[in-house]
Amino acid sequence: MTWQSPISPGYSWYEATIPERPGFPVMPGSRKADVAIIGGGYTGLQAACNLARSGTDVTLIDACRFGDGASGRNGGQFGTGQRVWADETEEVLGREWAQRLFDMAENAKRYVLGFAEEHAIDIEFMPGQLSVGHKASLERDYRNHVEAMTGRYGYPHLSFMDREETVSRLGSSHYHFGIRDTGTGHIHPMKLVVGLVRQAALAGANLYEGTKALKIEKKGSAVVIETTSGTIMADRALIACNGYIGNLEPVTASHVMPIRSFIGATTVLHDHPEILPGGESVDDSRFVVRYFRKSKDGRLLFGGREAYTADNPRDISAHIRRQICEIYPDLTDIEITHAWGGSVGITMPRQPFCREVMPGVTTIGGYSGHGVMLANYCGKLYAELALGKPTELDLLKQLKIPAFPGGTRFRSALLFLALSWYALRDRF
Ligand SMILES: Cc1cc2nc3c(=O)[nH]c(=O)nc-3n(C[C@H](O)[C@H](O)[C@H](O)COP(=O)(O)OP(=O)(O)OC[C@H]3O[C@@H](n4cnc5c(N)ncnc54)[C@H](O)[C@@H]3O)c2cc1C
Repeated sequence: MTWQSPISPGYSWYEATIPERPGFPVMPGSRKADVAIIGGGYTGLQAACNLARSGTDVTLIDACRFGDGASGRNGGQFGTGQRVWADETEEVLGREWAQRLFDMAENAKRYVLGFAEEHAIDIEFMPGQLSVGHKASLERDYRNHVEAMTGRYGYPHLSFMDREETVSRLGSSHYHFGIRDTGTGHIHPMKLVVGLVRQAALAGANLYEGTKALKIEKKGSAVVIETTSGTIMADRALIACNGYIGNLEPVTASHVMPIRSFIGATTVLHDHPEILPGGESVDDSRFVVRYFRKSKDGRLLFGGREAYTADNPRDISAHIRRQICEIYPDLTDIEITHAWGGSVGITMPRQPFCREVMPGVTTIGGYSGHGVMLANYCGKLYAELALGKPTELDLLKQLKIPAFPGGTRFRSALLFLALSWYALRDRF
């Protein structure tokens, strides 16, 4: 039977290719917990798993099924560093901060790969990432980035690709140049969700699906969460709803904005060995970024079109096909077997958002399209925080992330205008 996420459009190829997706009951009534977690994507699941392992009584609820948000439906690309390149961050926050944020992301990469290996979760990791430039004028920035990374940031895995190398590694003449990163890669995101859910259950976390948080407030020393099936009274809580926060909590909602992103999966590219012969994933320099890769069985998984409202395009496949054909004109008639989308939580400066929104209540999200590594790691770091340990989350808490302008009423419209302007600029 095919499960259709009520909060994210389309049936994903990931969902179609997992052997089994474990299900969990609706919360059977009111309960108490040391720690309550709202939202069962990577952030919430990692937090629950790590807390349960330490012997903490933890309850995790999700309004839908675990992984129905971005975590089970994303492009699967790790990338390297944060969403914003370290050399750009350096210009705003200085060298030391840029290095610390970069190191944190490298720790995140190691953590996710280590977690999967330790628990024998087959996440279908494939190595390699190509970041490619769609405008000749960006070449200096790309060269500088390679120099900065391999030099002062001590990351030896990057090399600059001239046009010839870029064309042969992509199997497309659409891009001018690029960067090859051999120190990262891409995964099957839903296989990570399923493996993680199993580990959290094994560790003894109390896991409930179909249980939506309606209100969160502080009453005396307790955090009280009203849900669709009872109340949770906890000592502390994590809000891990990211781009699906809605109106649950105003501070998160004003700092983390949802953007819809869409992906299509083609049939296996038997007749196109020239396309991505090295199996790397790709992201491009457009503001409305295009990201693609081949799956382990040789399909093209192509993500690109973004929407700045909660509305979904009527025909996701048609939009994705148009973008595929710009890069791979020979794929004009390729069948797109699955097309789906989800909400990416972004922040104004494209850095993660972590705040204590009321005493004992932490919110984490806004990884800005870079959460495959970071959301997993931040969930694990939250467990450390809740256990009173020093943690790298303190770094994120100190970042100055402004709220989106326009309040809850006008911010979508303002963002739509701003991002449409950047999308237009991508074309020239
Ligand atoms: C199409 C797409 C492509 C992407 N590609 C990449 C990529 O290639 N690389 C990368 O690094 N990142 C990518 N991302 C981003 C990445 O997937 C996210 O950053 C990451 O999964 C965030 O995890 P999370 O746990 O914070 O949030 P989510 O996985 O979004 O989980 C939030 C959960 O909260 C639940 N929830 C919301 N409100 C409530 C409530 N009131 N009560 C109970 N539960 C609630 C939702 O049901 C949902 O399950 C992509 C995202 C999308 C959508």
